[in-house]
Amino acid sequence: SLRAERKALQKAKILQLAKARGLDSATDQIKSALKKPEAERTEAEAAVLLLHRETVEELCKRQIRTNVLKRKQEEVFDDADELKSKVRELAVAVKQANHLVVYTGAGISTAASIPDYRGPNGVWTQLQKGQTVCSSDLSKAEPTLTHMCIRMLQKEKLVKYVVSQNCDGLHLRSGLPRQALSELHGNMFIEVCTSCSPVREYVRLFDVTERTSLHRHGTGRRCGTCGGELRDTIVHFGERGTLEQPLNWQGAAEAARMADVILCLGSSLKVLKKYACLWSMNRPANKRPKLYIVNLQWTPKDDLAVLKIHGRCDDVMSLLMEELNIPIPAYNSLARATDPIFSLATPLQPEEEDSSSREVIAPPHQPEDRSSVSGQQTAAVQGGWFGRGYGKGRKKKKAS
Ligand SMILES: [Zn+2]
Repeated sequence: SLRAERKALQKAKILQLAKARGLDSATDQIKSALKKPEAERTEAEAAVLLLHRETVEELCKRQIRTNVLKRKQEEVFDDADELKSKVRELAVAVKQANHLVVYTGAGISTAASIPDYRGPNGVWTQLQKGQTVCSSDLSKAEPTLTHMCIRMLQKEKLVKYVVSQNCDGLHLRSGLPRQALSELHGNMFIEVCTSCSPVREYVRLFDVTERTSLHRHGTGRRCGTCGGELRDTIVHFGERGTLEQPLNWQGAAEAARMADVILCLGSSLKVLKKYACLWSMNRPANKRPKLYIVNLQWTPKDDLAVLKIHGRCDDVMSLLMEELNIPIPAYNSLARATDPIFSLATPLQPEEEDSSSREVIAPPHQPEDRSSVSGQQTAAVQGGWFGRGYGKGRKKKKAS
């Protein structure tokens, strides 16, 4: 609405200018004249433009702003040769880094059927357009090739730490050790009791955020030890996360402080850029970690990056692993059998069986679908981590 207001103001200004010069339809004349290449304009059109120089300037500025915005939203792909040579450069940086830290966003999970947020088909984009987003297959999502590569690079000690803004829990499920991970916005499979000290954690085999939304974190289940209400760990848009785990801000800040190379994968960085402790901006430019960005769209950190790669994360990572000569582990039935979530999970008590209608993840030797109440797989997303930020935007719109 702020944007609309600004637009209306601009329009009024232009109209006023035109009117002041005694021409109500001047703007239209100017617009049509501007659309033509200079050589094709008639004498009259050229005269109109000359006469209304201020309006012309205003319109041109507006056009430039629109073009910039449009360009920032476009998905760009480097061609095969360019991609390859860029990845070669990245591989050198990975090998030479003393302390490589990886920042990840929704773009690394798109191959796992989780849509990203701000891409052309992202959750945020779709909700903004008033379309409903389908939550089917969400819990069926499995670690992608990128998750498995990151896990492998950590095992090989090439990656020291991972900071993720994803709530899908896929880093953990890929086998990445928890001490090497910060999930800054929470984990959809973890609910906690904050009445217990230290905070007691319950890992579940289903999305615990079914009933939660902005400022409403109660999951409806209770702590088995003290009886306190359990809450999700999700940091919704507009909130500040204070939970120690799985957010692990201390680990993230420490990693950023130690980093000499930061690799950003599949994040628009629009939210991450606001977290000052991740970017060492208080240091002189040559003392900051070198920034490598893999993302299809523009990011606010592009100008500060040593290298920007426009490619899908899975494509870039598989080229990178090839360049590094490291095999890519698959998330197959063997990996699934050792998926840490199964050993970490606390089973529901018999009386809690009906407390969730979300699909349950099953280890490979068990039947795929153990959920008590299924058949809601295609329910539209309302709250929970998946639609985060949406509630807030909607409220704002109603208020104005
Ligand atoms: Zn408790």
